[in-house]
Amino acid sequence: MVKGINHIGIAVSNLEQSMNLFKTLFKVEEFHIETVESQKVKIASFDVGNVKIELTAPVDDESPIAKFIQKRGEGIHHIAFEVEGLQQELDRLKSDGIALINEKPVEGAHNMLIAFIHPKSANSVLIEFCQKSEDYVKQNNE
Ligand code: ZN
Repeated sequence: MVKGINHIGIAVSNLEQSMNLFKTLFKVEEFHIETVESQKVKIASFDVGNVKIELTAPVDDESPIAKFIQKRGEGIHHIAFEVEGLQQELDRLKSDGIALINEKPVEGAHNMLIAFIHPKSANSVLIEFCQKSEDYVKQNNE
């Protein structure tokens, strides 16, 4: 079950510069900074209401974000929806013939488990499903 939008990921090539920009745009006072090894990215996120904006910069050329920026330039990279029962949702999509990038969740920022749906199955939009790790573990151990 989809609960709501958790965050919007924006691909940026220079994290420092973009942080300065968004400080001006939204008067951001504090960023949450984190490196996400599974995606080879460093993020700087901040809250806008109930939604986070995640500025996402590659930490090396092999990062999916580096490839995205090479191909399409900076900009909106993905929309992340928080779900209940992440694995069940992935299994449901797979059985409905939806192409998944991650059939099993991987570790994301903010102690979330995340999985991407392939844009070719979603009108070229990269959709992420995410769930708090502790909820996922609880659910899958019941
Ligand atoms: Zn994300």
